[in-house]
Amino acid sequence: MTELPLESTVICRDLRKSFGAVQAVRNVSLALRRGECLALLGPSGCGKTTVLRLIAGLERPDGGAIVINGRTVSDGRVFEPAHRRHVGLVFQDYALFSHMTVAQNVAYGLGRRSDRRERVAAMLALVGLEGLEERYPHELSGGQQQRVALARALAPQPDILLLDEPFSNLDVALRRQVREEVQRILRQAGVSAILVTHDQEEAMSLGDRIALMFDGALHQIGTPRDLYEHPVSRRAAQFMGDSNFVSGQAQGSVAHTILGTVALAQPAQGAVDVLLRPEVLTLDGAENGTRAIVSGQMYLGARQVVWVKLAEEAAVLKVLCGAGARWQTGQVVGVHVTGEGVAFPSTLPQDEL
Ligand code: ATP
Repeated sequence: MTELPLESTVICRDLRKSFGAVQAVRNVSLALRRGECLALLGPSGCGKTTVLRLIAGLERPDGGAIVINGRTVSDGRVFEPAHRRHVGLVFQDYALFSHMTVAQNVAYGLGRRSDRRERVAAMLALVGLEGLEERYPHELSGGQQQRVALARALAPQPDILLLDEPFSNLDVALRRQVREEVQRILRQAGVSAILVTHDQEEAMSLGDRIALMFDGALHQIGTPRDLYEHPVSRRAAQFMGDSNFVSGQAQGSVAHTILGTVALAQPAQGAVDVLLRPEVLTLDGAENGTRAIVSGQMYLGARQVVWVKLAEEAAVLKVLCGAGARWQTGQVVGVHVTGEGVAFPSTLPQDEL
C-alpha cells in the first residue's frame, strides 16, 4: 500500500463496504491534505457516495480505518457516530429545514454558543446572503438554497466539509456560477473538503486533486492535469475527456503512427495505441499532413469540433480547433499532431499489427 501523509486531515486506509452481494467500496486508501478540495469522481454506482458516507460516520465500514485530524474515528474497535466527527455535510437536495428561516437554518448546528448571532452573520456574509435572514427556504432560488446549505455546514467550523453532488439540482447555467462561488467560499473559509461528483468538468474545476473511482476501487489520484494528460488507463483517459486512439509502434520517447511520428508523454516500446486529445490535432487544407475527409462539424462559438475520417484507416478522429477556419463536410484535409500522445499497450491481436 502507498504511504499516506500523516499531516492529512482525513486518512482512509483499506476501506471496505458491501451491501449484500454488492462490494460498494473495495480497499480504498486515500488522504485529504489540509486545505485542499479533493474531488471523488466516477460513474454512477462506483462507490463514491459510500466512501463519503463512511467518512461522515453515516455508514459503518466492514474493514479498514478512518482517521480525522489524527484521531481514529473508525477501525475494527472504534466507531464514532457522525455528530462527534466535526464534519460538515452538504447534500444534493440541500436538506434545509422548511419551517425554519435562513438564519435559523444556519444557526442549527451552533447549539448554545454565545457567538451564535455573530457566527450566523459571518456565514451569511461569506455566502453573500446578507439581508435574507428572515426568509424561508421556499422563498429562495435554488442557488440561494445551495448557499444556505453551505453556510449551515460551515457555521460550526467543521474540520472537513463533505459535499455530495451539491450542484446536481441546479440548471446548467446556474451550476457554473454557483460552482465558481463555492470555490471562492471554500478557499476563503480555508476548509478541507471532499466533493463527490460524476461530472468530470466539475471535478476538474473544483478539485485541487481528483480521486477517480471505478467499480468500488480507487483507480487514479492526482491533479486534474495529471489525470487528463497522464491517465493510467484507457478507461481513465476516456472518462476524463474526449479521446482519439491511433495504433503505432513505440520507440522510447516517440511512436510511429499513421499521423506521423508522435512525441510520447512517457517512454514506451512496441505495439501501442496512442491517446491523442482533440486539441493536440490540427487541420490544414491537405497541402501536407495525413489525408482525411471531414465527416462532420459542430460550431461552439469560441471553438469548433471537426470529425475527420482517415483515408487509410477506418478511424474517425475528433479535432478541436479555432472557430475561424470553415471546414465543409466531404472536404479533403491534412491532419497534424501538435502535442504529446500517451501510449497504452495495443489492444490489437499481434498478427494484425
Ligand atoms: P451515484 O453517482 O449514482 O450516486 P455512487 O458512485 O455514489 O453512485 P454509491 O451510492 O456509493 O455509488 O453505490 C455503490 C454501490 O453500492 C451501488 O451498486 C449501489 O447500488 C450500492 N449501494 C449503495 N448504498 C446501498 C444501500 N444502502 N443498500 C444497498 N446497496 C447500496
